[in-house]
Order: sequence, then C-alpha cells, then structure tokens
Amino acid sequence: MRFEGGCYCGAVRYAADGEPMLRAQCHCRECQYISGGAPNMFLLMPPNGFRYTMGTPKRFTRSDIERPVTREFCVECGTHLTTRRPGLDAIILKIGTLDDPSLYGAPQMAIFTIDKQAFHLIPEGLPAF
Ligand SMILES: [Zn+2]
Ligand SMILES: [Zn+2]
Repeated sequence: MRFEGGCYCGAVRYAADGEPMLRAQCHCRECQYISGGAPNMFLLMPPNGFRYTMGTPKRFTRSDIERPVTREFCVECGTHLTTRRPGLDAIILKIGTLDDPSLYGAPQMAIFTIDKQAFHLIPEGLPAF
C-alpha cells in the first residue's frame, strides 16, 4: 500500500510504502499543541518505505524533557508531518497530511489517555491506554 501526502503549501511531499503497523489516536498534551487541541490521528509506517519526494522538512526536538520525540514540519507553512520517537522503528505519520485522509480508515486504539481532555471523543469499545 502506498500513502502519499505533503504539507499545506505543497513545498514538502512524501511517499510511504508498506502496511501500516498501527492506526491510532494520541491524546498526549504535546500532540494537542500540534493537532489544534483534538487527539492526533496517526499511522505508524515502516521507516524503510518512507521518503520525502519534495522539499526537506525542518526538525524540532525538545531539549527540556527526557527521551523527546523529533517532529518534522514544513518550514514554509508550518504543517507538522511526521514524528520520530527514540527506540521506535517507525514513522509516525499525521493523517491530515495524506492526499486522501480517508485511507486512514479508523483508529485501532487510543493512547496517552491520561492527558485526555473532556471534549475528546474515543469511539465506543476502542482499546484505550
Ligand atoms: Zn508547507
Ligand atoms: Zn501524542
């Protein structure tokens, strides 16, 4: 399966080949900054199938927390595209950047619900951690 997408302005484009390792939604406080306040909907994709096909994103890693993730975003329009987590051999791909976000289907789990806001929705019966 191939997922293609890019940022809001089109300066950065990517292609991700392979089967998604996970479809999920993250409720962590950090993701809320980047999602706009809702849970962050993402796919875990195998890293060897992922590549940027146009442009180079800027990377940001916090220095004030332990084991910070690295987030990649378009330097022109600011769209956050992917996250890389130390020790996790996968690309965390934000599904809002897919050319066709409907390819996401539905989440298989909700994570970091300890940071969940009262207005966040978790589908009935979805495993939550
Ligand atoms: Zn852009
Ligand atoms: Zn998160």
